Amino acid sequence: MKTKHFTYILLFGFPFFGFQNKVAAQSTYEQKWTLLKQENEALAFDTGIKLSDAETALDKKLFQIRKQFLADTEQQKIPLFNSSFNELKPLIERSQLFEIFQSMPKGGLLHTHSGGITDVKWVITAARKYKECYVYDQPDHDQFIFGQLAFFEAGKVPKGFVSLDKKLISDPSFEKQLAELLILKRDNLCTYTNYWIEFEKRFKRISLLLPYRPFFKEYYKKGFLDLADNKVQHLEIRFIFDELYDFQHGKYPLKTSVTDLQDVVKEVQKNHPEFSLKLIYSSFKFLDPQSVEKQLETAFELKKELPNIISGFDLVADEAAGNSIYSFREDWMKLDQLSKKYGVKMPLFLHAGESNSVFNKNILDISSLDNPRIGHGLNLIYFPNTMELIRKQNKLVEVSPISNQVLGYVSDLRNHPARVLLSNGIQCSINSDDPSVYGYEGLGYDFWVAFVYWELDLKAVKKLVFNSINYSSLNESEKKKALIYLNGQWDDFIRKMNAKLK
Ligand SMILES: [Zn+2]
Repeated sequence: MKTKHFTYILLFGFPFFGFQNKVAAQSTYEQKWTLLKQENEALAFDTGIKLSDAETALDKKLFQIRKQFLADTEQQKIPLFNSSFNELKPLIERSQLFEIFQSMPKGGLLHTHSGGITDVKWVITAARKYKECYVYDQPDHDQFIFGQLAFFEAGKVPKGFVSLDKKLISDPSFEKQLAELLILKRDNLCTYTNYWIEFEKRFKRISLLLPYRPFFKEYYKKGFLDLADNKVQHLEIRFIFDELYDFQHGKYPLKTSVTDLQDVVKEVQKNHPEFSLKLIYSSFKFLDPQSVEKQLETAFELKKELPNIISGFDLVADEAAGNSIYSFREDWMKLDQLSKKYGVKMPLFLHAGESNSVFNKNILDISSLDNPRIGHGLNLIYFPNTMELIRKQNKLVEVSPISNQVLGYVSDLRNHPARVLLSNGIQCSINSDDPSVYGYEGLGYDFWVAFVYWELDLKAVKKLVFNSINYSSLNESEKKKALIYLNGQWDDFIRKMNAKLK
């Protein structure tokens, strides 16, 4: 008994009068408290999951490791909650939790973009090997920007471009500079940057590299292998279709990019037979409805020809600058008709609610459309009726915590809206969006962030991992196979981690 309490009893004695009534009132209070706790927990997204004894044992160990990590950072006065991902990255990488999440099977990565999945340092090293690769080394201009990479035939090099390899030989410090130009960092949480302008410049700098067919294949092979090594077994890319080309043939038909990717997947499957890929045909929110209608037709044509790899349709780009989803309503009304014409369905995987504003109402469209998954959904929490509809419709929100911080939607990651979604029973998955642009690879960092900042337990982590297969675009038989593989990997992970961690 603490001295303070002991002194109190000596001075005033036990308050015996009314003691029994107080006990009764207290037990009712306790019962209510316990019931409320249970009722709240029953609403959470992971309520159906029951952990095995081995999983419970690991859960306790992970809880202790996080507790110790937080105590250590506190002791070292590290501002864990007021720092950007970029500032914390080395700390994350040194932590034991990171090693654990790197080795954890992660199921599928459902939300990432073409042009954002492969390590930029590798991009520079690989691109310079091509003698036809050039870099623009003049100040930004209407057509080209500083650091923009491209392939050109000798004699047809536009003014301002210099050979990438020669530039890197003559100025070795340019490699670091170029890498910085390809990565978007939120240096610290209080600096001002127009993130979307800078973000789009990163894509522009490599946009002319990707359609060059020899580089295209190399780029995706590297990206897929890195993900497979990071225990990502299934991948869905928001894919911007472009005609591939090389200097011998000129342009190839649009579907060549798909058949090339299928070949790359086959190569990856030699070492990772579990690896699978789906593409979500992506166009842009800044186009007008007529242009989007044309894009939809193209998506249907491609899906009719290649139904096993093209899964659906999306519109990307900054929601604040682009058109609302509602402004394309005429296009969405034509979906049924197009489905009949082409004999395939085209579910939507729209980015919606990547915003902190209640004036962005893109999330309202989702519940009325065949849109099984939502990109980001950050402002969904401000539309409670829609949130409830989306829960009932069993639609999944693809959450990308690090992306949301880098692009300025969230600062302190403890306050990420996904925590509200999860506790309200909205299904989510963990994603990396554009990891190479944010300067990292794989999905381990995003799981680390979610586990540490959102105080998740293993039950929640497991549900997030399995959601990424259960809500994927894999067909029923593919899904069954993928779940068998994931279950095996998961059990193996639990066993190994329990043996390793004391
Ligand atoms: Zn995205």
